[in-house]
Amino acid sequence: MVRFVGYVLFIVWLPLVLFVDYFIVAPIALLSFLLGVLLLGVSKKLDRCGEKLTLSDSRLEQVAAISGDAIISYDASFRIVSWNEAAEKLFKLKKEEIIGTIITPASAGDPKLAVLTQVVFPSLAPSVVKRSDPGVYPQVIDVSFDEPELNLVVKTERVMNPAGKAVGFVKSIENKTREFELIRSKSEFITVAAHQLRTPLTAVHWIFETLSKSAGGQDKEIITNGLEVSVKLLKIVNDLLDASKIESGKFGYEFKDIDLVVFIDEMLRNASVLAKKYDVSIYFDRPKEPIKIFADPEKLGLAISNIIDNGIKYNVKNGRVVVNLERVPNRPYVQISIKDTGIGIPPSGMKKLFTKFYRGENVVKERTDGTGLGLYIAKNIVFRHGGNITAESVLGRGTIFYIMLPTESSLIPPKEVTIE
Ligand code: ADP
Repeated sequence: MVRFVGYVLFIVWLPLVLFVDYFIVAPIALLSFLLGVLLLGVSKKLDRCGEKLTLSDSRLEQVAAISGDAIISYDASFRIVSWNEAAEKLFKLKKEEIIGTIITPASAGDPKLAVLTQVVFPSLAPSVVKRSDPGVYPQVIDVSFDEPELNLVVKTERVMNPAGKAVGFVKSIENKTREFELIRSKSEFITVAAHQLRTPLTAVHWIFETLSKSAGGQDKEIITNGLEVSVKLLKIVNDLLDASKIESGKFGYEFKDIDLVVFIDEMLRNASVLAKKYDVSIYFDRPKEPIKIFADPEKLGLAISNIIDNGIKYNVKNGRVVVNLERVPNRPYVQISIKDTGIGIPPSGMKKLFTKFYRGENVVKERTDGTGLGLYIAKNIVFRHGGNITAESVLGRGTIFYIMLPTESSLIPPKEVTIE
């Protein structure tokens, strides 16, 4: 009986074992062998990656150690990985106490981590101005705080692994607070001086204006000259006052809803006196529909009328200025272009065009009444509205200025910013 069972088992078991071995165990063994080879390869690669990251980390630490700017890095889970001496000073946190800490938006509630958290998550900060386009690295933003007063320029770069995946971020944080203070105190000095000058100048201007109405003969010419000079002086003082207020962040904007079509119409009507004086004709290529934007009409008027006036002043006899207004397709912006047939801007001047006191070499000798502040003021006003301003020019042929303005108020920065 036992032998019978033994035979039966042997006859059934042997083919079973052979079958299982051949069709199931062997493939599994082969698969696990292949998997093992694969894992070994991957682990070797990972080892090499690890070496590279360690190497770059140590290099980063060396650079960070000699940098005057705070340089910090954190991994994909926002765990602080590196922290230099300047970061210790800026955030008042020692390296030993911060390395390894995971920063989350909730950390903003901790007074010791509040500033750092708002630098890591700028959307939590009270005032942020973006200096780079979305998605473009390094990202550059200005972050300012009132309590304590801090003005920071934060640059963020991704740390990529060899496979091209972001595994963390490095931030360099430049503390501009002292610089801002100096600019502000210098601007305040100019503001006070310009204010003091403006009162007596307005009186002098009023005297010349009154005299010019009754004067005759030789006196008339002298008084008309005096009147022109007082107008120029007032313009210089007003431009200085505006520029210094912009620099101290106290230009004082008041936004409201305006219809750009009506607004530009009115500005062109005001410019017609100057256009007549310079024998220049002005045209408005207007859209059919009204275009509503949120803007400070007084400040925006200053910016746009300066560019229209330039188009007239730096034109030729019987020249033209054409203003075009249109929506930017598929984007929440409008574009105003101001094109003239004038003397143009020298190529060497294009980079300096919007900086303070720039005046083209082709205008300084003959047209002495400019301050070189108008475009600087205009650019700052347009930036304050969340827009941008650019120019193209051909010397001797003409110039075209493009002003982009947002049609959505969410695109307007929350605070005044100065563009140098
Ligand atoms: P201002 O006109 O008082 O000198 P702006 O800041 O308005 O100051 O302009 C700066 C300079 O840019 C001008 O002096 C001139 O050289 C040049 N510029 C501006 N607009 C034009 C234009 N439409 N055509 C030619 N040159 C221009």
